Amino acid sequence: MKQKSLLVKAGRNFKNYNGSMNPPVYHSSTILFPTYMDYLSAANGNSIYDVTHDGITRDYSYNSVGSPTLHYFANALAEIEGRGHALIYPSGLCALTFTILIFSKSGSHVLIQDNSYYRLKRFAKNECPKRGIDVTFYDPTQSIARLIRDNTSLIMIETPGSVTFEISDIEHIVKIAKMHNIITVCDNSWSTPLLFKPLNHGIDVALYSVTKYLSGHSDLLMGAIIAEGDTFNLMYENHKYYGITAQSYDCYLAHRGLRTLYIRMTQHQKTAMQLAKFLETHHKVNRVLYPALTSHPQHELWKKYFKGASSVFSIILDRQYSDEELSNMVDHMKVFAIGASWGGCDSLILPLTYERSIMKPDHVGSCIRISCGLEDPVDLIEDLNTALTRI
Ligand SMILES: *Cc1c(COP(=O)(O)O)cnc(C)c1O
Repeated sequence: MKQKSLLVKAGRNFKNYNGSMNPPVYHSSTILFPTYMDYLSAANGNSIYDVTHDGITRDYSYNSVGSPTLHYFANALAEIEGRGHALIYPSGLCALTFTILIFSKSGSHVLIQDNSYYRLKRFAKNECPKRGIDVTFYDPTQSIARLIRDNTSLIMIETPGSVTFEISDIEHIVKIAKMHNIITVCDNSWSTPLLFKPLNHGIDVALYSVTKYLSGHSDLLMGAIIAEGDTFNLMYENHKYYGITAQSYDCYLAHRGLRTLYIRMTQHQKTAMQLAKFLETHHKVNRVLYPALTSHPQHELWKKYFKGASSVFSIILDRQYSDEELSNMVDHMKVFAIGASWGGCDSLILPLTYERSIMKPDHVGSCIRISCGLEDPVDLIEDLNTALTRI
């Protein structure tokens, strides 16, 4: 089935829910069994209610490892990725932090991008040292060969990176990782499986903030990973031991979001390109950091790996502005709203003053992140133009 069709159909089967087109939202903590023997089998991975049918031995005896609504959604994600199995987390951040804890132990060394999602960096800086885990923050535009140590257990990738949108050389990282038996994880929230499929490039774990494009409506927080074989089994064990899950209604909403992912991403991309091109010509904008633009330093690398671009990017203004000046710019916009996150229907704008340390030397001006929603690009351009005139 073509990706477009698969996105509509994935994970649903009306025959399993009495002909209802949509999966039921199961509100239940407890699962009831006709007999004790049925309960025992479910605890050992052989449930009379198995809804995954993917050969993985799971504990199905209690919903702390997920309700059927959660499993329908997880099935859909694995179908869209085209391989592996999915695990659902209460947030993207939770998926990131638990993944680090699974693949590192006291005495091990982890590589994390210097331009990665800032809450991940905050976790790495504050929580990893307490657990005896050494972290190196690496520049994804440079070779990682000399950063590898005997105790390196994990490489975290985020391509493009948050805020500054550098593209990683996946082939190079995967080659080095495989040589040294290091697990690779790719935060693929920006692309979704529609534009890039990490596992097809030798990455061990594809990771998503479902909160963003996958669910697509800014109405829930959720994370997910997709992996195969021993890597998946290890992650599943951890999932089970820690009681990580998400609520059924949220899983239903996220699953519903998938059906419009294709048309949303198509529109998001069109709008972002128009806005990026407009901003590139604006005299108060020094740089537009959007990999789909030919002016982007890793544009060729982006073309090599990605089928398209989503709608989050940053701009560097012509100089440093004070918080008051930036506030004056973004406070009175008509369509853009001020807020963290991205990937929903509403356009968002946010000056990012806290990440200045990773800016390249030629990025001298203030940085503003833009997430293009589904409003009319004409309104968005007018809104940006007025705001830039105001600053
Ligand atoms: C937002 C974000 C996350 C965290 O996701 P939440 O679901 O909001 O916790 C992880 N990675 C990237 C790249 C993000 O932008």
